[in-house]
Amino acid sequence: MSGLYIHLPFCRRKCHYCGFMSLDSFDDGLIGRYSDALLEDLASTGKTAFDTAYIGGGTPSAVPYELLDSFLERLLKRVSVSGEFTIEANPESISEGFLKTAAAHGINRLSMGCQSTNDAVLKLLGRLHDRKAVFTAYDLARKHLPEAGINLDLIFDIPDTPQETARKSMEEITSLNPDHISAYSYSFDTSYLAEKGEVSDSMFLEVKHFLQSKGYTKYEISNFAGKGHESRHNINYWKLGDFTGIGASAWSLENYSAKRIHKGKAKDVNIYLSDPSCYVETSVTEQSDLVKESVVFGLRMAEGVDINCLSSFYNRRDTELEEKINRLCGEGLLEWKEGKIRLTEKGELLGDSVSEFLW
Ligand code: SF4
Repeated sequence: MSGLYIHLPFCRRKCHYCGFMSLDSFDDGLIGRYSDALLEDLASTGKTAFDTAYIGGGTPSAVPYELLDSFLERLLKRVSVSGEFTIEANPESISEGFLKTAAAHGINRLSMGCQSTNDAVLKLLGRLHDRKAVFTAYDLARKHLPEAGINLDLIFDIPDTPQETARKSMEEITSLNPDHISAYSYSFDTSYLAEKGEVSDSMFLEVKHFLQSKGYTKYEISNFAGKGHESRHNINYWKLGDFTGIGASAWSLENYSAKRIHKGKAKDVNIYLSDPSCYVETSVTEQSDLVKESVVFGLRMAEGVDINCLSSFYNRRDTELEEKINRLCGEGLLEWKEGKIRLTEKGELLGDSVSEFLW
């Protein structure tokens, strides 16, 4: 399994809480130079065939569709994508031209950054769209990409916001029948809204049970899929399969028999443009940590991880890790099921602490 990630760092405005690398000031000339750099970056990897691809950002739909069309045409002359091909988009910039461009190039999955259907919440987050745009964009997407899987993003646990607004958003978003829902608890990572304090009563379990009652399967900490609509591209990240990332701030991962290499591109667009093939950060996971890293990432998946299979694959037992796992089982945070270790519901609520302890 081999995935391609393409980072398009253009947004019409920066959301207040955003921690992604994106620019809110750009013109067609910069998009053109950046597109050339992406193709140079890709050529330097020597790779020409991928199982999945994902165009993320930024806001790919903020790129004028004529420029997106020309980039995709040049890209797909150089590489093939045999399976899932996703593009991210925001409701305010989903146009007929954008969707027709996506359809013409074989994009078969659309991930839409809705976040909420409440106008006050959208304003608080600094989003450019309003609730009406969510429904308009969704209908337009279904019309022009009738075969595509559609994901809608949702944020809950937003400080200073009644939880009722998230409940209403969940109901309205599921009433559209999207194929997939990514539901994220609001992060304090960017410190925006942090001064408003902790959310005392997390909606994590309520969101999970509600979406499950609507027929979605929770296959990862924050991701819910209708039958057959799990994201293969994202599953490959959590299973630490090989992937190639191109673009400013993009990461790649390569597996070898005795080590795993993670390497990243410059976050600064000008530095990236000056040498698109250059990796500015590299981290190597040595053989002694391969099983542990696979377990820590794999625990994000609801199916859990087969530690015995991993140990024999990497030809190494990590007894210290196994002792820690036993301790967390004793504390009710992990459990064994059908030969795999996985988070319990209590463990899901404390997922970050579990990962930290195991690492
Ligand atoms: S649209 Fe996404 S990437 Fe762009 S500023 Fe908002 S959160 Fe960040």
